[in-house]
Order: sequence, then C-alpha cells, then structure tokens
Amino acid sequence: MARLVIVSNRVASPKERAAKAGGLAVALREALSQRGGLWFGWSGETEINPPDTPKVFRSGRVTYALLNLDPEDQRAHYAGYANGTLWPLCHYRLGLLTFRRADWEGYRRVNEHFARALLPLLKPDDNIWVHDYHFIPLAAELRKLGFAGRIGYFHHIPWPTPEVYLSLPSHAALVDDLSHYDLVGLQTENDVRALLTYISSEVHGWIAPGGTVGLKDRRFRVAAYPIGIDAEAFVSDARKSVGKDEERRLNESLAGRRLAVGVDRLDYSKGLPGKFAAFGELLRSYPEHRSKVTMMQVAPLSRSEVAEYQALRRELEELGGAINGEFAEFDWVPLRYLNRPFQRATLAAIYRRALVGVVTPLRDGMNLVAKEYVAAQDPEDPGVLVLSRFAGAADELKGSLLVNPYDIEGMAAAMDRALTMPLEERRQRWRTNMDNVETNTIHHWCQRFIDELTNVTDQFGPPGDQ
Ligand code: ADP
Repeated sequence: MARLVIVSNRVASPKERAAKAGGLAVALREALSQRGGLWFGWSGETEINPPDTPKVFRSGRVTYALLNLDPEDQRAHYAGYANGTLWPLCHYRLGLLTFRRADWEGYRRVNEHFARALLPLLKPDDNIWVHDYHFIPLAAELRKLGFAGRIGYFHHIPWPTPEVYLSLPSHAALVDDLSHYDLVGLQTENDVRALLTYISSEVHGWIAPGGTVGLKDRRFRVAAYPIGIDAEAFVSDARKSVGKDEERRLNESLAGRRLAVGVDRLDYSKGLPGKFAAFGELLRSYPEHRSKVTMMQVAPLSRSEVAEYQALRRELEELGGAINGEFAEFDWVPLRYLNRPFQRATLAAIYRRALVGVVTPLRDGMNLVAKEYVAAQDPEDPGVLVLSRFAGAADELKGSLLVNPYDIEGMAAAMDRALTMPLEERRQRWRTNMDNVETNTIHHWCQRFIDELTNVTDQFGPPGDQ
C-alpha cells in the first residue's frame, strides 16, 4: 500500500482528543495510522525568515512535520488571500471580496515554502493528499521542483459558477495550478459542473466522460466526493447522553418547552442574521409558539482577525438582543446565544433534545452540522431538519425541509411546519436522511478519495507523463 501524505493548514496533534479534534481530523489521523504516513502542515508559529526545515516528530505510525511561517507571509496567506479573497469568492459574496497583489504574492510564497520543505520528505510512490483552498498552488510548486508522483486535492468549500469565479483577478492562474494535480475533488456535482464549465468555456480545456480534463499539456480528473461524518460516534454520543447530568440540566432549563437548535461557526456564510430574523418572524407571525419554543444558537467565534467577522459579531448581538427584548417573558428567554465551543458529547445531547435543527447557510460546501443533527436524533421521536438549499448537504438530505435562506418569511413558515409536524412524517423524513448519513460516512469518503487517487493516473498514463 502506498504511503499517505496529508497536507493541511491545521494539523490535529496526536494529543488532541477525538472529542475535540472534529470528525475530519480524526478520520485523517486514522487513515494515516492504518497506512503509515506523514501529516504536513503549519506549526501555528511564525518567525522572520523561517528555514525550509519543519519540526518532525513521530507518534505511532504517523510522522508529523510542522513548518513555521514568516509573520507577514502568514498574514497575507491566511487572513489575506485565503480568507479575504478565496473564502468570500467561493461563498458567492463578491461584496466582501478584497484582492491585493501583495496577498496573492504572499499566498504563493507560502506555497513555495511548503513545497521546498515537503519535497525532501517525499518518496516517488507516495499518495499526496492536499486539503483546501489554502494550498491550491502546492502541486504546481512541487512539480517545479521535479516531483512527478501522485497528488490529489480536495476543496472543502463550494466552487462558484463561472460568472462569479471570473471576478477573481487571478482566476486563470489558480485553475492552471489545479491542473498540476492528478485528482481534484469537490463536494457536489454542482461544484464539478461549475469548474468544468469554466475550464471548457474560459480557458479552452477539454473534458472527457468521467471527468478527465485536458488543459494545455496536462491531464487531471475532477469528481464529486461529498464529505460525511463519523455517524457511529454521533449516534453513540447522543444515546449515551440520555439520563446524564448535562441532559438533565438542559431539560430542566427548558421546563418542557420545545427546542430549536443552530450550531455554526460565527461566519458570514452561515446566514446567522437571516436565521435570527426568521426566528423573530416565527414569534411575530405564529404567536402560538411564544413561550412554547426556545431557540439555542451555538456560534463559536472564528477568524476574529478579519474585520467582517467582528462586524458580524456586533450585528448578531444587536439582533439577538432585539428579539429577546421584544418577546421575552419573565420566565422565558426566546433566544439563547452562546459564543463558545462544546465537546462533541454535549453537542450531541443538545441536537437530540432539539425538535428542529435550523441549518440555513447562504452558501456552504457541505455543512457537517446538518448531518450531525440527523445522526444524533432519537429514531422513535426524531426532530426535523430545516436546511438551506444552498448547503452541499441539500443534495443528499432529501428528508429535510429545504428553505431559501434569503426568504425570511419562508424560513419562519418552515420552522412552524417542523414544530407542528406529525410524528409519522418526522420518522419518515428522518429515515431518508439517516440512510444517507449512515452510508456515506467520513471513513467511506476518505477511502474512496484515496482509492481513486491511487488509480487515477492509470487513466492518463504513468505519473509525470502529463
Ligand atoms: P465549517 O466547516 O464551515 O465550520 P461544518 O458544519 O461543515 O462547517 O463543520 C463544523 C464542525 O464544527 C462540525 O463538526 C461541528 O460539530 C463543529 N462545531 C461547530 N460549532 C461547534 C461548537 N460550538 N463546539 C464544538 N464544535 C463545534
């Protein structure tokens, strides 16, 4: 079995416990332990003129290699080009997009630095799997240094349609970078269509059936790999929460009321102001729910160094305060708003208690919270998922109530429908969703990507012959 090499910005250290590290990090760590492998990423530390030599250490069968970055390059790379340019672009928020040449150059410098540091650690037959938009140019940089082995890339966020993508001044260079991979994985068929349409209509590439792409003298494959969750872990955590202290405290605090839950990083792609407004609209237009339902929105702070995230935080504080000011009673606070992280087991208990899961991003690559909410339900008395049609998960979770997150009244109506849905319909809808969550797990996703990367170059000649 070929050795696996994973590259990602953040590396889950061997000491980070599964309950905290998140499903993806745990699954990648498992894939590495099974095959033996290398996890390469940023150390989280900066230093001026850092050397091209990472800190290397082993834990079991996994080698970790962590690289320091120059502070100015790190800013240009992370807060600049990755999260100030690519993130808003891929989430269709052109009004929030900033493009600075200095950021683009810093982004490329970080990728060059990564490639120089990674190259001496590679073997020709490795399977290299690069994660996310921080490292799109990494394969091109490794090829420049002479590496001819297999490299795959997975894009965790949406790929925008050509009309939106063309707003990026560096659009052609970035797709040229993608063409140095052997396999490019996206979340949904929609994303694949968007990228292939751009390639065929804007940069004169050709597309063969099965997603093989020819661009200039290179061949690569583009396909959809919808990411899943560790369904078993969520089912088990949710079951175990029954009768425990936290569940008891939650139940006591709700005093028999229904619960609607939202769990999202505090990010403008998640549609949180619209969700708050829709909950306010529910209480205004369907007064029978007043004092009967509590909404809990868990929203840990994220990317606080980027100005838009600070502005969003203030906006939500104002909106949340206004809803509570308008509707609260002396014994009922409609909206509980928490800016903190929780252990997976606590989240599972909250999901299970909630009759409605409200997942309404304006745009999302997949949205794992939607799948976690489904997995945590009690099969006898499951809750209803209200899901944005613009989340990648909407392609798969057909038992949800799909909503348009720009339609506040429509979302309020869907929440009302969920809160009043008969048990039999709830069970049927949940079963449809759960079949998908149980089948397409994170382990299955990982295995499928690695298998297809291992075989992909057979379709267009040996590695390097591109
Ligand atoms: P994104 O990757 O954009 O943040 P996803 O919904 O795909 O969105 O994934 C978010 C992950 O972060 C989920 O696994 C979720 O359980 C986790 N998460 C979100 N909020 C919290 C929180 N407050 N505490 C712990 N984990 C959280």
